[in-house]
Amino acid sequence: MSFLQPDRYFSRVTKIDIGRDLLAQGLAHVLLDVDNTILTRDTHEVPRDVGLWLASARDAGIAFCLLSNNWHHGVYDLAGRYELPIVAKAVKPLPHGFLMAMGKIGGKRDDTVVIGDQLVTDVFGAHMVGLPAYMLQPLVEQDLPHTLLLRNFERIVMGEQRPEGAYVGVVETRNESE
Ligand SMILES: [Mg+2]
Repeated sequence: MSFLQPDRYFSRVTKIDIGRDLLAQGLAHVLLDVDNTILTRDTHEVPRDVGLWLASARDAGIAFCLLSNNWHHGVYDLAGRYELPIVAKAVKPLPHGFLMAMGKIGGKRDDTVVIGDQLVTDVFGAHMVGLPAYMLQPLVEQDLPHTLLLRNFERIVMGEQRPEGAYVGVVETRNESE
């Protein structure tokens, strides 16, 4: 595994097939990034389709722990609302938070995957502790200034790789039901 190459790259968390891409791979534990993975950075919402995906995955037996570098009360509120365990102030890519989050849900190295939208914090951090990483395109373009700087680096590493689930030449509607 290349430390800076995600194991899979998806356009959105909902494009991860719960059966095929998680359960069939033996991945029943997920360490899930928050900002721009399930929560929009601009309006601070969990899009409806993302909320439904989370519920379906949990019904299917996937255990989630939120894993975020964020330290604001919003991430704790989110964890409370969804009744999910959380490791916040995680200082990804350092290993400590990943290990704590695995411990909270009883995940092992061979049955846990990290899902997040950033190469340096989520993907590199996952690989440093020996976990696979599913990378996502960010939910929205807006992000913190230092994150936007890192996105330039991501573009260099990811090059022309296209995420799974993206439609070439077609703009996807994010909240079709709204
Ligand atoms: Mg993020």
